[in-house]
Amino acid sequence: MATKALITPEKFYECEVKRRRVRTTGPGYEPFWKLKTLADALLDGDTEFRCKDCHGPLKLHRRHTPGTPSYLEHKLKVDSEHCQQGARFLEAADGRAHRQSATPVA
Ligand SMILES: [Zn+2]
Repeated sequence: MATKALITPEKFYECEVKRRRVRTTGPGYEPFWKLKTLADALLDGDTEFRCKDCHGPLKLHRRHTPGTPSYLEHKLKVDSEHCQQGARFLEAADGRAHRQSATPVA
């Protein structure tokens, strides 16, 4: 298969962020992942992100100019190729199936 140049840059504005909540089974806290918009996550000061679909690590691109929102993309090319919201996955014309990240953020 011929290699195709990446046309669409990957930009997500939604992600899962790591939060803590009171443990339901005993004392203390337990971590959990919560789906949020990136704008909300940045306002809330969240620092741990993962892809909502493949759970792979994401790279944050912060923008400080009004009108140009911050965005996320897959940190790993392999996740972008196999995650259903990955730019490379969406451009692949081989009918591949969505796959969870081999290196999920836990
Ligand atoms: Zn993904």
